Amino acid sequence: MVLICPQCGKATLYLETGGVMGDIYRCKNCTYIGNFVIESDDDDLSDELREGKRMETGKY
Ligand SMILES: [Zn+2]
Repeated sequence: MVLICPQCGKATLYLETGGVMGDIYRCKNCTYIGNFVIESDDDDLSDELREGKRMETGKY
């Protein structure tokens, strides 16, 4: 499984901290910090999100 950054669409997130407030993730590619991330089993999802291919094909 990979964690996708909702801001830049790259799988460059790492866990900043976790606790009673929930897990906070930070992105190494941009300035995103937060607890909302996109979880995916598909390593290519980041590319598809960036290029919009998933919307074109409608494949799930
Ligand atoms: Zn990012």
